[in-house]
Amino acid sequence: MSTKPNLRNFTESELISIMKELGEASFRAKQIFKWLHKGVEDFSEMTDLSKTLREKLSSVYRIDNLKIEKKLVSSIDGTIKYLFRLYDGSFIESVVMKYKHGNTICVSSQVGCNMGCRFCASAIGGKLRNLETGEITDQVLKAQKDSGLKISNIVMMGIGEPLDNFLNVSSFLKNANHENGLHISARHITVSTCGIADKISSLADLGLPVTLSVSLHCPINEKRSEIMPVNKKYPIEVLLDAAKDYIRKTGRRVSIEYALINGETDSLDFAKKLLSLLEGGLFHVNLIPVNKVTERSYRKSSQKQIKLFMDYLNNNGLPATLRREMGSDINAACGQLRKQTMESRGD
Ligand code: SAH
Repeated sequence: MSTKPNLRNFTESELISIMKELGEASFRAKQIFKWLHKGVEDFSEMTDLSKTLREKLSSVYRIDNLKIEKKLVSSIDGTIKYLFRLYDGSFIESVVMKYKHGNTICVSSQVGCNMGCRFCASAIGGKLRNLETGEITDQVLKAQKDSGLKISNIVMMGIGEPLDNFLNVSSFLKNANHENGLHISARHITVSTCGIADKISSLADLGLPVTLSVSLHCPINEKRSEIMPVNKKYPIEVLLDAAKDYIRKTGRRVSIEYALINGETDSLDFAKKLLSLLEGGLFHVNLIPVNKVTERSYRKSSQKQIKLFMDYLNNNGLPATLRREMGSDINAACGQLRKQTMESRGD
């Protein structure tokens, strides 16, 4: 395994410093940065660089490429799920969804996850490592190349907790947004977090007004700590203060993810508590009937209860929508394909 750094990990300004160190003109950094985000897989494809410079670069750096290990296409809605193999043999998942507002990719930010949410498949087995910046970018590039679909929206809702990999994720966000990078507008990029409040503040300070999505899932601290251990460190009040601060600093609305779990989070009493927490017109609630994870006992709420819960919020002035299930025939909810593949290999 090569230990050379992956050139796709760097921001354009970092590449400028690298060029200086190599004694090259700084405009080369822009050329290289552009090539890397157009999806080149090898130095030889950077045709406007001299052979000498390409050789110099490849003696110090590598260009890493994710490999498609498995690909599933939904016959219901065309959703595509990729299982990518990384250079060290680990796996991550990405999902491409075709929405009216544009093709959206859901990317992973870590190999596994340490947050321990009880309902989540990615938490089983914990976190193996953070993804490098280039490995996050390459999910977009390889999915785009393979599917032939132009991706216009990115959601960081795949495997991992993006704010637990803050440095690499912030470089990714810069590169995704940069005009010479993936060139996707900040409002078309969503970062989803289970609630690492102090990193929400750091995200607000990046100066990239990406959409923030907070996985709240429960309006009561005691219960939330039970299903989402992160709540013990950052309780609901602290989390929502950070979210409000994010809105103030970026001018963006924040969406609240709320998983409806039968008998756990779906009572009308919880709907009332949720309403009182989120009053003030700053939030929008995305309701997600919980996906079944084999190892977990949680089940989704009944259609009747989902409707009651959603109507209660909407009728009382808190906008709430039900997340449309995509790719249900290919098990598109994240973390499950990786787990199955690891199990079949005996990991
Ligand atoms: N770590 C980040 C992003 C990854 S998960 C976060 O927590 O936000 C993306 C979303 O899927 C989160 O809202 C997460 O809570 C939710 N999720 C995880 N497992 C789920 C399941 N079994 N059913 C429904 N939603 C789930």
